[in-house]
Amino acid sequence: MSIVRVALDVPLSTLFDYTVAEGVEVGQRVIVPFGRRQLVGMVMECVATTDVSPERIKPVTQVLHDSAPLSAGLLDLLRFCSDYYRFPIGQTVLSALPVRLRSDKPVISKPILSYRLSASGAALDFETFPKRKVVQRRILLKLAEQPCNLAQLKALSATVGGQLKGLMAEGWVESYSDVHLPSTSSGGCPTKSSMGRTVGDTHKHTFDNAHTLTSEQQLAVDAVTQASGYACFLLHGITGSGKTEVYVHLMHAVLQRGGQVLLLVPEINLTPQLENYFRSRLPDVNLVSLHSGLSEGERLHNWQQAQLGAAQIVLGTRLSVFTEMPKLALLIVDEEHDSSFKQQDGLRYSARDVAIFRANQCGVPIVLGSATPSLESYHNAQNGRYRMLKLTGRALAAASLPKVRSINITQTIMHHGISENLLREIALRIARKEQSLLFINRRGYAPVLMCTGCGWLSGCKHCAGKMVLHLNEQRLRCHHCGYQIRVPQACPSCGNADLHPVGSGTQRVESVLQQRFPDARILRVDRDSTRNKRAWQTMREQIHANEVDILVGTQMLAKGHDFPELTLVGVLNPDSALYSSDFRAPEKLFAQLVQVAGRAGRADKPGEVIIQTAFPDHPLFRALQTHDFEGWAASQLAERKMAGFPPFMFQAMLRAEGKQENEVYRFLNDARAAAVALQHEVEILGVVPAALPRRANHLRAQLLIQAASRKALQQFLRAWQPPLDALPAQKLRCSLDIDPLEF
Ligand SMILES: [Zn+2]
Ligand SMILES: [Zn+2]
Repeated sequence: MSIVRVALDVPLSTLFDYTVAEGVEVGQRVIVPFGRRQLVGMVMECVATTDVSPERIKPVTQVLHDSAPLSAGLLDLLRFCSDYYRFPIGQTVLSALPVRLRSDKPVISKPILSYRLSASGAALDFETFPKRKVVQRRILLKLAEQPCNLAQLKALSATVGGQLKGLMAEGWVESYSDVHLPSTSSGGCPTKSSMGRTVGDTHKHTFDNAHTLTSEQQLAVDAVTQASGYACFLLHGITGSGKTEVYVHLMHAVLQRGGQVLLLVPEINLTPQLENYFRSRLPDVNLVSLHSGLSEGERLHNWQQAQLGAAQIVLGTRLSVFTEMPKLALLIVDEEHDSSFKQQDGLRYSARDVAIFRANQCGVPIVLGSATPSLESYHNAQNGRYRMLKLTGRALAAASLPKVRSINITQTIMHHGISENLLREIALRIARKEQSLLFINRRGYAPVLMCTGCGWLSGCKHCAGKMVLHLNEQRLRCHHCGYQIRVPQACPSCGNADLHPVGSGTQRVESVLQQRFPDARILRVDRDSTRNKRAWQTMREQIHANEVDILVGTQMLAKGHDFPELTLVGVLNPDSALYSSDFRAPEKLFAQLVQVAGRAGRADKPGEVIIQTAFPDHPLFRALQTHDFEGWAASQLAERKMAGFPPFMFQAMLRAEGKQENEVYRFLNDARAAAVALQHEVEILGVVPAALPRRANHLRAQLLIQAASRKALQQFLRAWQPPLDALPAQKLRCSLDIDPLEF
């Protein structure tokens, strides 16, 4: 009889001791009694003694043998995250696992089927295959290149499932079970090894070395492949400079040595297109993706492929930073500045920061790529903690950076938020059969409805925010809590029937354009128009087929997509970020505008970007015009240093919300008093209302702690935890956010 210490998905910062009769390994899942329930847990330690008295200690109900145990390395990473982010160990460990492994039912991993052409399918003449069967044709062509599983085929079209059945019924496509042999190695980290040394045998794969690297790209590839052990590289490349090409070459180098690569991307929408690209360049490599768009079965399968070492490349969003990869030899974080890498509830980790820690732990290099690095990373590259790699030229010599100019909205004719000059530029593009994109970071028709008689505004009755007018649906909607009502016929306050929409959202921009260009094909891309799972993919196909003249969209459109026919980008209404209370707002705006500007003129056609602003001389817009990230970053860092903000300070935010204002403030004030009493070298700010002080009838407030070093902050947080845990907070929702991004 031995004793195991188990992590459970409960909000307590402790492990729980159980006895176990059979042999069990650290990292194995077990089912144990907890109160009246049976919970699945993770064995964190096997120990000889326990403080629990022999009559109270309970036996493990069942040891699960359905999945290989987690490695010590991965468990260490999770322990670190639990400690650093002050989040209970059990919840940290369990939340890192695929959903199926968190369930108390043993997993039966169904084999994932792969598809290939049958003999009669291979004999088909694609030239004479009916052109109208577009999707079937695409599937056949894809399978003629290589066998694929369903997830890979889904990238081709939204309707792959049904079409595939049709092809199988014809006998042209057959399915088979794709079994990969388990690898013999185990452990979350390879033995301290670098890319420069051999991890295993030489591994052969096909590499489509289609593009000659530019000298800058070659320097970047060489620097990373020659790194010995841990090193953090910041790959700062302007949009269109070919960062992806650098990634492909790095992957090739790692795979040749038998290593695994983990590539993190900020957004699930970007995965299919990247996945296809990497597959086309490394066709016989086992690449899996991990993101929330997969079914639970697919997710488990892909995770296990990575755990076995069979998946050589893992491409995933935030959570995949916790994927078990025994031969991990390189991490890449693409668009490292993107705030989507930060989880905003539960374990509030930054996947980028965890990736850096993991690279260090495993002794392997990591590459952070961006056209607009976060000021934190940029600062670290300047002070020598990271190594800077620069790509200053566009990969295609013909493609030049877009010309950026500002239009002063106070000195021009405006049509509901769009200037006459911009409309004329759009007309030119339509005449030339090129595409235009109007970027406005607000969905709906207008952000607020106003009464011209008494000044009434469409406030949400549950929040401190305003209800957004959605004219198409005749609704006022709160984007904070989801509350919605029909648009009132008259002012609820004074009865006046003259209600006016104030400001513009995507729907209003769309309708202004429809009036001006009745024959143009206009496509709106925002969260409302892409609610349907496959909608965005269909839209992207339309854009690529040049079936769209004008695109209207939010930041969804800004990220990473290539639209070769797009030559004009209009930025509407970016000014609110200039006077936001969030000190990161200008940094985010700059990054967003560089991204969206980068959509213009990617191929051989020169692009133009027009920014509509009331402040055309603002340094931010000046820096955009001159493509001067360095100058902009230097001025921002100087401001941050003066003001005592990150990256010169390290922060933690305690947030609380509840129905009773006095309870919220009592909790935070008591927490503050406890913090002051500790007498640590930290700066403890006052308790203040949150940026949105009321949401869904909950009052919200926060307390910010700052320290000059990460270490000082961590020491303080460890000391603060016990008094914090002791404070009564039953009716409150509280969270502690380390390195917060939202204020
Ligand atoms: Zn009124
Ligand atoms: Zn609301």
